[in-house]
Amino acid sequence: MAPANPQSTVVGKMLIIWDFDRTIMDDDSDRWVVVEMGLTQLFNHLRQTLPWNSLMDRMMEELHTQGKTIEDIINCLNRVPLHPQIVSAIKSAHALGCDLKVLSDANQFFIETILKNHGVYDCFSEIITNPTFVDKEGRLRIFPYHGSTVPPHGCNLCPPNLCKGLVLNKMQDSTSESKQVIIYIGDGGGDFCPTLKLGEKDHVMPRKNFPLHNLIIKSSIPIKPKVREWSDGEELNKILLHLIDDVMLH
Ligand SMILES: [Mg+2]
Ligand SMILES: [Zn+2]
Repeated sequence: MAPANPQSTVVGKMLIIWDFDRTIMDDDSDRWVVVEMGLTQLFNHLRQTLPWNSLMDRMMEELHTQGKTIEDIINCLNRVPLHPQIVSAIKSAHALGCDLKVLSDANQFFIETILKNHGVYDCFSEIITNPTFVDKEGRLRIFPYHGSTVPPHGCNLCPPNLCKGLVLNKMQDSTSESKQVIIYIGDGGGDFCPTLKLGEKDHVMPRKNFPLHNLIIKSSIPIKPKVREWSDGEELNKILLHLIDDVMLH
C-alpha cells in the first residue's frame, strides 16, 4: 500500500553530505574573500610558507590590522551568489525529510554566513568544518578541524587539518543500526577519501571534470557507491531529486 505521507518513507533513511566550495557555492569561499577584500598579493606572497588554515587566519589578521570589521567580512560574504537550483535542491531535499550536513574544508564563519544569507542555514542539521571565533578585538580567528579539539587523523589522502573520510566513518558508526542511504556531493581531492568509505547502497555525486571526478575515474581501488556526475546547479538538482524519489519508492 502506498504511504499517505511520502515524508514518512524518507525520514531517517537518507543522509545527504554536501561539500561547500565549488559544490554548494560555485566559487571557492576563501578565494572569494581574498580577492574581494584585496588580499591577493599578500596571499600569493605567503602561500608557500603557511598551511592553508594558518594562511587564512593570517589573512583575517591582515584585515583586522587594516581596520576592516566583521561586518565588512559579512558584507563581502553576502555578495556570494548561489545557483538558484542549488538553493532549490537544498530546500526540496530538506522538505522531503532528508538529513542534510555540510562537510567542508572552508570554515564555519564563511559557510554559516553564506547559508544564512540565502535562507538555507536551517536546512542543515550539522556543519562540520574548520572552526572559527571572533576574538575580543573583533578579529576573526580560523583553526584546523583536527588539532583544536579533534586529535590528528594520520590519513595520507587528506590534508592535516581535515580528513573527511574519518568524519564520514563516525557518521556511519552512529547510524549503523539504520538502513540509511548516504548521498555524497563534492568536487575536490579532499572528497575522495570519504568516497572510498561509502558502501554499495550509497551514491557519490562528483562534479564533472573536477578533481574528485578524475580521481574516481582513475582509481585503482574499486569505488563502491553508485557514481552520478553533475556539471551545474540545474543538473545537480535534477539528479538529486531523482535519487531521493528512488529511495522513497524502495
Ligand atoms: Mg569543494
Ligand atoms: Zn582521509
